[in-house]
Amino acid sequence: MRGVVMYAPGDVRVEERENPTIVEPTDAIIRLAASCICGSDLWPYRGAEPADHAPMGHEYVGTVTEIGSDVKNVAVGDFVVGSFVASDNTCEICEAGYQSRCVHNVMMGAIGTQSEYARIPLADGTLVATPGQPSADLIPSLLAASDVLGTGWFAAVAAEAGPGRTIAVVGDGAVGLLGILAAKQLGAERIIAMSRHADRQALARQFGATDIVEERGDAGVARIKELTGGLGAHGVIEAVGTQESMMQAIRATRPGGHVGYVGVSHDVTLDGQELFFSAVHLHGGPAPVRRFLPQLIQLIWDRTIDPGVVFDLTLPLEEAAEGYRAMDERGATKVLLTV
Ligand SMILES: [Zn+2]
Repeated sequence: MRGVVMYAPGDVRVEERENPTIVEPTDAIIRLAASCICGSDLWPYRGAEPADHAPMGHEYVGTVTEIGSDVKNVAVGDFVVGSFVASDNTCEICEAGYQSRCVHNVMMGAIGTQSEYARIPLADGTLVATPGQPSADLIPSLLAASDVLGTGWFAAVAAEAGPGRTIAVVGDGAVGLLGILAAKQLGAERIIAMSRHADRQALARQFGATDIVEERGDAGVARIKELTGGLGAHGVIEAVGTQESMMQAIRATRPGGHVGYVGVSHDVTLDGQELFFSAVHLHGGPAPVRRFLPQLIQLIWDRTIDPGVVFDLTLPLEEAAEGYRAMDERGATKVLLTV
């Protein structure tokens, strides 16, 4: 099969990879309907994480082609969506809703789903079948549920988005934008998007942002306070993962408020005393997408939400390198790879 391999930072190739086979009786094999490039794939692409002949990709939707002897919840022919972390969905951590930290978790990034086929470990706990075969126009939205929508949703839940609340969003990538969609669905009264890109501001408004703040850092925090009677937002979604974005999120949150942080943290250091006096709740980490998948699939199936519009560039898998380049140069927000 064809699959994406990152030889080294900046060096992405599409090459022949071995077709996956059932390894554990709890595995399933899927034929991907589409895959995509994640903002987090840019960390190794830019050299902020090591990359040495690594298969790439952790988002996926597709049709089950084979199941192991212990798999009971999905069948060959089912169209399925799964999270970027495989989970058993039965351990205590899963039962509490934190499937991304399942005691048996398998990071799908280590398997690589920018490919024609993929092995899905712990299929029963990981995969959720759609109500039927989706029409082609639903595929991008279902694919978004696999990570960026699920992650934005968790961030909005962690930031306690809800009626009467003002939510600010740091980061205008796909996760930040879908965090806006989630906050709106959860009933937030006011949603402040922090973005200085006209096209992303437009998408932010389409998803439900009521205000746009272009300033960053201290100036951005000052602007959020100005918009919230000097108090700060009730909740802030942090969807970047840098020192600046994390501090912006904590400082823009009012005392007693909630920060939902889902940007993969890189070189972030928190000052204990500032954290102490901020009196904010911090809740985040790798999103337990599996917790939300049944609900998100239904919202997409009913055409209540259309998160697939975050894909603004579609390329064949063969041209994955071009997709990485486009996202790296911010020419594209999110790239869908047709398989
Ligand atoms: Zn578990």
